[in-house]
Amino acid sequence: MNAWVTISMSINPAINKIKFSTICSAAVLTLFLFSAFTPAKNNLTPKQIPVLNINFYMMGRDNLDMDVPLKIGENVEYLNQEFEGEILFELNEIFMDSQGAYLPDLYQNFRRGAHAEINRIVKPLEKKGGVNVYLFDTYCEENSSTALMGFTPRLKMREETYAVNSPNFDRIYMAYQGLEDRSTLVHEMGHFLGLKHPWELGPGDKYQMGLRNAAEINTNHMAYGANVSSFTKQQLEKMKMHALKYRTYLMSKIISNYNRA
Ligand SMILES: [Zn+2]
Repeated sequence: MNAWVTISMSINPAINKIKFSTICSAAVLTLFLFSAFTPAKNNLTPKQIPVLNINFYMMGRDNLDMDVPLKIGENVEYLNQEFEGEILFELNEIFMDSQGAYLPDLYQNFRRGAHAEINRIVKPLEKKGGVNVYLFDTYCEENSSTALMGFTPRLKMREETYAVNSPNFDRIYMAYQGLEDRSTLVHEMGHFLGLKHPWELGPGDKYQMGLRNAAEINTNHMAYGANVSSFTKQQLEKMKMHALKYRTYLMSKIISNYNRA
């Protein structure tokens, strides 16, 4: 259309002035109709998929036992499977350090508010910009047949300060033995991204999270036991919102999906 206008104008400018304005009006009308009845692409809301970096730290190890990195890979794969594409995890780096500790001891220190020992162990090798998973050995407490498999420190309020507190609340502490069932990492990542155990929720919150009967609760990743196998879609949505609101500083990218199929 532009080419036609240019050529005509060179032959008869007077006629073409009219033609040009007619074309312009027609073009404006077409544009108006188009914008009125067709949603502009800019108005489409894409589905956003956060991609979180994840680093692992093999603590208390000075010999590279390839079994552990293999299990780490399997755990990240399972993590991606259980987050059903709502959040993606990219294994970034694996570190190894001979400095070790026992997970239950670290947890006791943490609960007492004694952070010096934990910081002394993890700070020297800590990398910013990813979820840092520290692997330690564990043991069964006296008179108990179960061992602590993981814990995740979180802010109780003012979640908007996660970024300025980084990397202090970017940590998940886990037992090597927790890599075996693959669900420990999924459970701890649930806490990391704002989820609580079902028994910590009131009836209204439980309902809102899609935990509406005993079966849904018992098989949920935020419960304990061998039967845990899924998140609800409400939990996945909540975690994604948490990530996009408070944890963008841990992301390698955000994928915007305009797919309308
Ligand atoms: Zn828990």
